[in-house]
Amino acid sequence: MTDAANDKPLRLFNSLNRQLEEFVPVHPGEARVYSCGPTVYNYQHIGNMRAYVFADTLGRVLQWKGYKLTHIINITDVGHLTSDADEGEDKMEKMAARENKSAWDIAKFYQEDFERDLARLNVQPKQHPRATEYVEAMIAWGERIADKHCYELDSGLYFDVSTVDDYGRLARAVTDDGEGRIDTVEGKRNAADFAIWRKTPAGETRQMEWNSPWGRGAPGWHLECSVMGEALLGFPFDIHTGGIDHREIHHPNEIAQNQAYCCTNGLDDARNSGARIWMHNNFLVERSGKMSKSAGEFLRLQLLVDKGYHPLAYRLMCLQAHYRSELEFSWEGLQAALTRLKRMVMAVERLKDEAAGNPSHPKLAPMREKFASAISDDLNTAVALVALEEALAVKKIDGGVKRAVIEDMDAVLGLRLFTLSRTDLRIRPADAQITEAEIEAELLRRKEARAAKDFATSDAIRNSLADKGVEVMDGDPLGWEWRL
Ligand code: AMP
Ligand code: ZN
Repeated sequence: MTDAANDKPLRLFNSLNRQLEEFVPVHPGEARVYSCGPTVYNYQHIGNMRAYVFADTLGRVLQWKGYKLTHIINITDVGHLTSDADEGEDKMEKMAARENKSAWDIAKFYQEDFERDLARLNVQPKQHPRATEYVEAMIAWGERIADKHCYELDSGLYFDVSTVDDYGRLARAVTDDGEGRIDTVEGKRNAADFAIWRKTPAGETRQMEWNSPWGRGAPGWHLECSVMGEALLGFPFDIHTGGIDHREIHHPNEIAQNQAYCCTNGLDDARNSGARIWMHNNFLVERSGKMSKSAGEFLRLQLLVDKGYHPLAYRLMCLQAHYRSELEFSWEGLQAALTRLKRMVMAVERLKDEAAGNPSHPKLAPMREKFASAISDDLNTAVALVALEEALAVKKIDGGVKRAVIEDMDAVLGLRLFTLSRTDLRIRPADAQITEAEIEAELLRRKEARAAKDFATSDAIRNSLADKGVEVMDGDPLGWEWRL
């Protein structure tokens, strides 16, 4: 922390204790973060991507605060059943059968698509370990905890949740018949018990299966995050993140495994859970149900792009809400975010030629102060955005100073304000029938016609453009001359 504006304690909401806590790194000067990643059996919807925009913003804040960041987003390519609670089929195998491809090809395809979406949302590069690379380590983990904490059934090795203290504290739902716990596996001791290893049923072969002391089969889903978190970050690490649904089943189960593995007792000391702080983003919701992957076409980033929205307009939309609040998706909301982004990009355009100066300037100090306080207060990005806009609006100030301040803020928000251009924001909808060069040429012709007071030609050009889906925007306050 080199700068006074940045010299505030970072307070984060720890879901485990349901309170704001000051971030104190486990290893001085470092921040180690694990974010539960996607199951790569299908495209990610924009709700999933909200989870990674949140995780990325957290990572950027930690770096901005001066910590050396190690950040994992794992790739689940085996083990996740259609229900989080050990019910149903394996998501990967089910999709492989449906698409008539190998489960490995499915995983590769959707992982690449996911990584493309991360890049388009300007998520900084992270480590993406795959579950299938850690199966040996998962088996070793199972062997270490099996005697004291597990029991074997015909279908696999199960974790007995009554063998650890404070099971379910994160979820605040400890009863056997708590939400989402449907006990259909014959012989489970507690409804919440979950699979460490799932045996391949006799007479069946799975595409993804391994030998283990409990027979041929595949690891349970929860195990991978425990194993990869420990292997890559060491226990306890600083922060574990995920969407709010993981607070109920996946993360309580991870925590139970971690307690068993480390032989730690209750969770009064958060470090016994494997991580110091557990953070959860709330959901992006869409009333008409287009986010459900089972509903055929669903809302994914590519659909936004196809409709002409820049992906960073979606990032901005996420940042406008607090990560712990539900965010309702609407096209109007996305349009508003795009307009806001355009305004910022236009204001920054004037600063692009300036060499960054010293950001310390009394005129910009209040905005920097506001920005730092907001960000340090459990990542209040909504207020931070306002501080950035207020700094942009300050008049009669050296451009280089302003540039330095805005760049510093954008390092946290990740909107790429200095590399985005107006043309970038004018994404062509997939169904556009006309190129940008053609539009520009037509508009030039129209300008000449108007200069010559030939309004008939000018109107005819305008109408013919309208037929091709181009709206001519005379006098647009943002200086945008047209939009598709
Ligand atoms: P999954 O691939 O289902 O494991 O989900 C990947 C990540 O997205 C997890 O962290 C989920 O908690 C999160 N997630 C799922 N749906 C939403 C949503 N509608 N809004 C925000 N995050 C979500
Ligand atoms: Zn996980």
